[in-house]
Amino acid sequence: NFSLSQLQAIDAAHYLHPFTDHKDLRASGARMIVRADGPFIYDSEGHALLDGMAGLWCVNVGYGRHELAEAAYEQMKELPYYNSFFRCATPTPVLLAKKLAELAPKHINQVFYGSSGSESNDTALRLVRHYWALEGKPEKNIIISRNMAYHGSTVAATSLGGMSGMHEQLGGAVPNIKHVMMPYAFELALPGESDHDFGLRAAKAVEDAILEAGAENVAAFIGEPIMGAGGVKIPPASYWPEIQRICRKYDILLMLDEVITGYGRTGEWFAAQSMGIEPDTITTAKALTSGYQPLSALLVGDRISKTLVEKGGEFYHGYTYSGHPVACAVALKNLEIIENEGLVERVKNDTGPYFAKMLQERISGHPLVGEVRSLGLMGAIEIVKDKATRERFQPEGSAAVVVRDHAIAQGMMMRATGDSMILSPPLIWTRETIDMAGDRIVKALDLALADLSK
Ligand code: PLP
Repeated sequence: NFSLSQLQAIDAAHYLHPFTDHKDLRASGARMIVRADGPFIYDSEGHALLDGMAGLWCVNVGYGRHELAEAAYEQMKELPYYNSFFRCATPTPVLLAKKLAELAPKHINQVFYGSSGSESNDTALRLVRHYWALEGKPEKNIIISRNMAYHGSTVAATSLGGMSGMHEQLGGAVPNIKHVMMPYAFELALPGESDHDFGLRAAKAVEDAILEAGAENVAAFIGEPIMGAGGVKIPPASYWPEIQRICRKYDILLMLDEVITGYGRTGEWFAAQSMGIEPDTITTAKALTSGYQPLSALLVGDRISKTLVEKGGEFYHGYTYSGHPVACAVALKNLEIIENEGLVERVKNDTGPYFAKMLQERISGHPLVGEVRSLGLMGAIEIVKDKATRERFQPEGSAAVVVRDHAIAQGMMMRATGDSMILSPPLIWTRETIDMAGDRIVKALDLALADLSK
């Protein structure tokens, strides 16, 4: 058994963490999370934290689900691995594909597996370009995305994303990807502009980009239904239907990145259903296994599948762990739990609206809060210096980190992204858990206000 300081020393010496400033990490030491149960995670010092982030937007069924461990164990004993290249298959990815086709919107019936959301977005990018090549239009290969989008960390997924810091470190993105404005009214709406009109204007930016590039050169538009890592930015209701109309008008594929929103988070199995749209591809990962195994599934609509089958020819793409039998067995059991416990309906009809009410009634009036927003169990609290003028603290993000640190000290694990405090809890949260979170967040905001007013 290692003490916390021993583990921290080994960590600092050997472990390069994702999205971490290693100078900072060395100075402060990592918090060791050592176990978890239900909605709580526990650190090495025995502190219980309410996990407001479901791990990293993924542990939808909560922690301590022994059924998932048993599903993995049984599958490992039976068949731990075999590939699905070269006309081989194993049963669990086949059965999972059938299940996903049942849950997904009607026009989606096929699945391509990977181990992460980033990999699946790489697959999506290659697949839509491959589709147009098969259709005899290889010149149609520009993809339109948005500023502040997050689509993952591989080179292609970073290029699809719209995070400027990530692009700077890339030193050369995948070509033919263009970025347009994000649909974030709080920051970008004009004075007096309604949410509805703003949503249409943000969609018009996509149309302008298509016209500028020439529709004959544009393969697809990609977006997260709700930008997650960019700060839980929920677009006005007018946005997505208008994006779909524009894509159809110019014969451009619609790619939806539901790595965060898939599997119940917004109160539907997929946010495509919440937004009322029919994308050609849906990227999913994370909650597909509730994070118990690394697995992603790119859901592929009939338009693309039909061309793949009719035109034939090999799609030169795949990962060793595409359709990993153990990960797929866990996914099947995870979806069964979500279904049996009615978690999606519960988010839609009970906990989602209650969560929104809590944010509205208890948080939105706080002097540090410019806006609260949520859909289902996905929400954000926007930190401002001045409620009336929406002036921010400087530098950007500095105040949210103060709130976050107080929240953690109060037993509430939250994430700060820029000036947004983010919540994306396990779908097993009840009204009582939401009340508990509300208590802790209010305290954290009060303490942060006292600090920031000094
Ligand atoms: N797409 C979105 C919307 C995400 O939020 C993420 C990760 O947070 C990814 C893609 C990348 O997924 P992964 O980290 O599994 O590669």
